[in-house]
Formats: sequence, structure tokens, C-alpha cells
Amino acid sequence: MDTIEKLAILGDAARFDASCSSSGSSRSASPGAGVGSTVAGGICHSWTDDGRCISLLKVLLTNHCDYDCAYCRNRSSNDVPRAAFRPEELAMLTVEFYRRNYIEGLFLSSGVVRDPDHTMALMIETVRVLREEHGFRGYVHVKVIPGCSQEAVERIGLLADRVSVNVELPSGRSLTALAPQKTAAGIEAPMGYVAARVAANRDELVRYRGAPAFAPAGQSTQLIVGATPDSDAQVLRLSKRLYGRFALKRVFYSAYIPTNEHPLLPAVSSAPPLLREHRLYQADWLMRFYRFDAEEIVEPGKPNLDLDLDPKTAWAMRHLDLFPVEVNRADYETLLRVPGIGVVSAQRVLAARRLARLRTEDLKPLGIVMKRARFFLTAGGRYAAERVPQADELRLMLADAVGQKGYAPLQLRIEDLPGAAGPTVGAFPRAGAFADAPSPLAAPAPFAAERLLLPGA
Ligand code: SF4
Repeated sequence: MDTIEKLAILGDAARFDASCSSSGSSRSASPGAGVGSTVAGGICHSWTDDGRCISLLKVLLTNHCDYDCAYCRNRSSNDVPRAAFRPEELAMLTVEFYRRNYIEGLFLSSGVVRDPDHTMALMIETVRVLREEHGFRGYVHVKVIPGCSQEAVERIGLLADRVSVNVELPSGRSLTALAPQKTAAGIEAPMGYVAARVAANRDELVRYRGAPAFAPAGQSTQLIVGATPDSDAQVLRLSKRLYGRFALKRVFYSAYIPTNEHPLLPAVSSAPPLLREHRLYQADWLMRFYRFDAEEIVEPGKPNLDLDLDPKTAWAMRHLDLFPVEVNRADYETLLRVPGIGVVSAQRVLAARRLARLRTEDLKPLGIVMKRARFFLTAGGRYAAERVPQADELRLMLADAVGQKGYAPLQLRIEDLPGAAGPTVGAFPRAGAFADAPSPLAAPAPFAAERLLLPGA
């Protein structure tokens, strides 16, 4: 089998992994220092329809696998075409593609051959050849095989920009049922090592100018959603723990694409829960940049996110008694809770109102999305919308484009059936009722610098 035939098989086999975004790592190509460069702003933000990041060569070293994870197309019991690259072959392919400007880096994963350490040794050798023999300085993201040794994690961390260990299934029970050869401990141990090593490396780099960088773009993970009965509340709680415990840069959510018949999995004919995946990304954004807690994003008693509304709007609809807020008085954190106000527009409001009292017509130029925000704001005591809608009407008006049409057919819910009554919400308060009240939300807390880089809500 030639290299291109292998690429067809191993590129296709890798497309189910969502976690291939790159950012946070900077390295320039200087004359004589090799080829390639990567920038902290991220080099791969292009995604194909099936979720693949197209500016990385995203590929498996091999799709031979000794494990038999029920949800995986590459599991040992499946009869699929198999292939394997030699480390030098894949390194050369990466460099050739880079020179032709097809890609900006490599995303490398693999099936488990023999055992985790043997597989890691092959992946380490691939990246070593790429870095040391070809002088490749572009972006490299490597999947760490759960259960591998600390030595293997150390070696790959010194070669790759980002490493990640896939958690895959959101609960221990699901892992035991569907991926019995993996263990929670085998997943968490390398994540813990990377977290500690990255933190220590930060100090090393300050103290010793020439210290080698360890995974300078940090670590991430992927969670599959929709393969198991685990709810959005469970997924978000787990994400919160992962961010806190392992200092992850990102948790990627991957809608399960049914490929195998299994009594515990959705039927092969069922559609991937793409809208659910989309809502989880929005909820994740709220946790990371808007100081929302996992517990408050999901409605009590309803373990899954509202598919019609983005999670921030859904939260606001559940807390209509806290709105409208007065844009001239609300603190930063309160402003961030207003649908249609993002990090940048909230900061602009704070800056602008130091100079003058804001009127409704001043808000749109500050980047506030008035289509949503007007129902939750007063400016100078005047309600920003033309009239106060009833809650049911407001809910219909605030359903976003994806909630209204994008993926709705994929996940028909009981409430969507003709004649079924949807949930009702209490009447929206009168305009101005809270215009002069102090903010009902928590006092502002200091925000990380990275917030400043974010787009509006
Ligand atoms: S170890 Fe990875 S490649 Fe192998 S069956 Fe499990 S998920 Fe698939």
C-alpha cells in the first residue's frame, strides 16, 4: 500500500476526533532554524462540514487497534480497511504537505498497538523525526494514549505543542460499559502529569532562558456526547472539574456519530446530536469567560440544555425577575449576564459611561446586540425595547437561528409534538421596575487577561 492510500484510510479514520484546534503556542521560523512557524493566535480555525480542522494534517499513525471500544469505528472487532504509517513516512508526508502549503501542522493520534507505551514510542519517533531530522517547527498536537507511562508523556510533551488525553465518555459507568480496556485512572494519570509539568515548566522558562518548553500550548480533551445517557448537567460538571483540576485549555465536545450496532448505543440510523454539541460549546464558553457555574447553566430539574435558546438567554429567561438592568449603573459582571452583551461590549459600556450617561441609541455602536439585549436593559431609566413582551412571546423572539431551524430535525423533543404544551414562564416585569435597584448579581471579580481577546456575545 502506498503512502497516499494509507493517508486515505488513516485520514478518514481520524475524522471522528474533534479536538484539533490549535492556539497558544508561538514559534518563529528564523533563517537556518528549520521550516515552519506557529503563532499564539491559533493557526487552524478552518473547519469542514464534518468538523475537521482543515489546516492541520489530521491523521492516525495506525487504525489497527487492540482495544474494542464499542463506540469506535476502529475497534478491533470491526471489519474496516487497516493501514499503518512508518514514523519516517508520516514525518516526510507532513513536511511535504507543509512545503506545498496544504497544512500548517500535524494532529496525530493512533489506535493502540500492542500496549499504550509501544504505541506512544511510535508516535514519539514520528514527531522526533519531524522535529530533529526535518527541522519542522510548525504546530504539532499529539493524542496521548491512556495508560501510558510518565516517561512517554514527558518525551512527547517536549516534542509537541499540545498534548491531549481523551476522556471520551462522561462517566465512569459509561467507560466501564463501553470501553472496558480503558480506566479512569489510566486517563487521569497522564492528564495530571501534564498539568504539573506545564506549571513547573512555566517557572523553568522564567529561570533558565534555554530551558526546553513542555507542551507550550497546554492540554485539551474530548468528550463524546449522545453516545450514552449522560446528561448535559453531568457533562458540564465534568468539564468544570477537568478545567479546574488539570488546567485544560479546552474541552471539546463531539456529537456521537453512530457507526456500530450495540445494545447500549443509539441506532446506527440515528442522527448525531449536533445541536446539543453546539449548546454545550456555548455553555462551556459561559463557564470559561463569563463566570457562570456549571450548576446554574442547566435548569434545575431539567438535566439537559434548552435546545431553542442559547444557554445565556435560557438563564436570563429563568431569571426575568433580575431584569431589566440599568446600563448606566450595572456592574461588569451583571452586564455580562445580559443576553446580547459580550466581554468586549461590556468593557466598552464601562468605558463609555465614564464619559457620558448612555442612552438607548448609544448602545448598538458599543457592540451590544440590541435584538436580544433591548429586552433586558434600561438606559437612563427608559426600557430599551418598544414594549414589554410576555415571557412566552419573548422566548419565541429570542430563539436563535440554530434553535429555530439549523439542527432542529435532529432532536425532536416531546414538547415539539403537535398538541404538547411547552413550559411557561412567569410574566415579564414592568419596564423600569429595577432601574435604580442595586445589581442582584454577584459583585465583580477580577477577570483574566484572556477575556480581553474575546469577541462579543
Ligand atoms: S482505543 Fe481508541 S482507536 Fe482503539 S477502539 Fe478505543 S477509541 Fe478506538
